[in-house]
Amino acid sequence: LFGEVPQATPVAVFKLSNDFKEDPNPMKVNLGVGAYRTDEGQPWVLPVVKKVEKIIVADNSLNHEYLPILGLPEFRSSASKIALGEDSPAIQENRVGAVQCLGGTGALKMGAEFLRRWYNGNDNMKTPVYVSAPTWGRHAHWNDKTLTTAPKHSIFVLHACAHNPTGTDPTHVEWMQVAEVMKRRKLFVFFDSAYQGFASGCLDKDAWAVRYFVTQGFEMFCAQSFSKNFGLYNERVGNLTIVARDADNVRRVLSQMEKIVRVNWSNPPSQGARLVAITLNTAELFAEWKDNVKTMADRVLLMRASLQAKLQVLGTPGTWDHITQQIGMFSFTGLNPKQVEYMIKERSIYLMASGRINMCGLTTKNIDYVAESIHETVVN
Ligand code: PMP
Repeated sequence: LFGEVPQATPVAVFKLSNDFKEDPNPMKVNLGVGAYRTDEGQPWVLPVVKKVEKIIVADNSLNHEYLPILGLPEFRSSASKIALGEDSPAIQENRVGAVQCLGGTGALKMGAEFLRRWYNGNDNMKTPVYVSAPTWGRHAHWNDKTLTTAPKHSIFVLHACAHNPTGTDPTHVEWMQVAEVMKRRKLFVFFDSAYQGFASGCLDKDAWAVRYFVTQGFEMFCAQSFSKNFGLYNERVGNLTIVARDADNVRRVLSQMEKIVRVNWSNPPSQGARLVAITLNTAELFAEWKDNVKTMADRVLLMRASLQAKLQVLGTPGTWDHITQQIGMFSFTGLNPKQVEYMIKERSIYLMASGRINMCGLTTKNIDYVAESIHETVVN
């Protein structure tokens, strides 16, 4: 039955982690996978999450019954509020809806599936979808030119902040220009917000673009991931926020999304959504979470400054200002595939072939080794 099934290529980032695991070199460093690490190189369970986990365990009113198909209502509404802002005109006007999804990936998939079935632009089987070049591996590319030449109603997936993999975001003025063109050309914006809080350390600042588009009257989707900013990678907690023209449009869209959920995961998992909802809906916990996010963002900033300074001291050829100019979890080092191979083979430093490094993989203990290795690689 399965004799003809071809072997698929392994997912690059997971293969990299595997190779790292098997590498016996005690100096090895993993700068591949996109997860936060402490300065000890360990995964971090956010203190606020630990606290809320205890609250959940102690709450005898909770059980393991199915959630509503669209997810935990208090999670969906509080998640959308984080993206759009407490005082969002769209929320006040009752034209925002949301679906709890399996991580940011699930939210992207849900939005894409809905658009495939129902998007009202033109013949939706032919609607082009553009993503930035380069982009995150699971997005298939746009540049300034495509923005002005794309057919009416084309769909544009835009990273809300902390662009993966380049770590370079448009400025406010550039976002305004993008919005202006998109409005004029009737293009649909699908925001991918996977790093809110990680770019600047401030949730509101990182949501600027999304909120600006709302003020400009766009109907839009925004896929939110809580994997990184809550450190809930394996709980698969995401939200798809829908901003539509009016309450009636939201109602009908959600009714169709319910159908899509039913034949996909049928019902979402609860733990991650409960953790996020309780945190966002309790003032002291919310404040503590913001503080935890800032701790992560600040450590990344420190590692950026430190790596850039060390390369400067070493006199590594090239300019390295981009390390500190870029934001979020990732940096595009500019190392080419051959140099990446050298880093992996000769120095046991694991990074993506594109030259992308996860800044969180750097620690005060390995940063000298990494800087010296980059130096050696570039000079070689
Ligand atoms: N979008 C982007 C740009 C990402 O980098 C990620 C995480 N790697 C996601 C979405 C989705 O993350 P998750 O499904 O783990 O929540």
